[in-house]
Amino acid sequence: MTMNVAIVGATGLVGRTMMQVLEQRDFPLDSLRLFASARSAGQSLPFRGREIVVEEFATDRFGDVDIALFSAGGALSREVAPAVADAGAVVIDNSSAWRQDPNVPLVVPEVNGKTALSHSGIIANPNCSTIQLMLPLKALHDRFGLRRVMASTYQSISGAGQSGVDQLRAELRGESPERMYFRRPAALNTMFHDFPDGSDETEEEMKMVRESRRILGIEDLRIAVTCVRIPTIGAHGESVNVELERECQVEDVRRAISEMDGVRVIDDPANDRYPTILDAEGVDDVLVGRVRRDRSAENGFHLWVVADNLRKGAATNAVQIAEIIAAGRTVSAEEA
Ligand code: NAP
Repeated sequence: MTMNVAIVGATGLVGRTMMQVLEQRDFPLDSLRLFASARSAGQSLPFRGREIVVEEFATDRFGDVDIALFSAGGALSREVAPAVADAGAVVIDNSSAWRQDPNVPLVVPEVNGKTALSHSGIIANPNCSTIQLMLPLKALHDRFGLRRVMASTYQSISGAGQSGVDQLRAELRGESPERMYFRRPAALNTMFHDFPDGSDETEEEMKMVRESRRILGIEDLRIAVTCVRIPTIGAHGESVNVELERECQVEDVRRAISEMDGVRVIDDPANDRYPTILDAEGVDDVLVGRVRRDRSAENGFHLWVVADNLRKGAATNAVQIAEIIAAGRTVSAEEA
């Protein structure tokens, strides 16, 4: 069944990547409409060999839309997603606005894809750093049981959107950025995300903990996270340390992860082969390497996990969810 799809936030980093992913995955489209703010309404963007004019977002323009892919920030999503869903579209939202709402499925298709079908009009895409972590953790939990997880992120500047990238690129050219998106220099620096309400944990760290527990369905998962932004653009890296319930060998861990859909293991230290940020850029798979024993813990292992935050961390995951919805409609139409 073909779908009428809309992208809200089409001119942004995630929105533009969504257009590429829809095209590359040959999504069954009847029509594609693009929305952004008044700032970029009237611009046109290329899609499947033609130009589509960007419209100014308004909730009354969604009457014939089946799936609305939202990537325009949490404030807009919170305000308008219910109205767009009431108009009949399934909203797949990239912001953090709905991720902890018990009535909104939080979905990584390879991990809990079936939950997407129990939506009430809104489906949440998890945080980019959470998505890539979920695939190897799910593989390990199913085989060996997760006892404890520690993760430290190396997150690219593109995770903060176009304005963050513009700041980094200007600084790298030795120019003053037109606008300081970050309070600190991005080039040659490391930064943390915001600390809300005097907390000693950043928002990103809290999101990763809460979302991981929800997606894996392990309410009391012992997980500790430190999130760091580094001056790269193409992907997020994560140093992950796990303690497992059942005894196993490095080769068992590598095999379990490599059998997971959407994951590619690149792990040949003798030949200096491991996944880098540049290897992951533009790729949909989550790349895993440096699988090795952590001899300081019982059944402890280290992993290095890399994924393109704009693709699997956002656009690809959202389009995969849209594919589940489209396939569900096809089945219902055939059964009717
Ligand atoms: P971005 O590059 O800054 O793009 C923001 C987009 O939202 C632009 O198209 C902008 O349109 C649009 N927008 C902003 N305010 C709007 C409004 N009031 N009405 C309609 N459109 C509006 O940001 P991004 O990186 O694409 O991120 C978008 C969302 O995805 C955010 O919620 C972010 O947290 C989430 N996300 C991002 C990543 C990532 O790696 N970047 C990963 C996962 C999730 P104009 O061109 O008109 O300004």
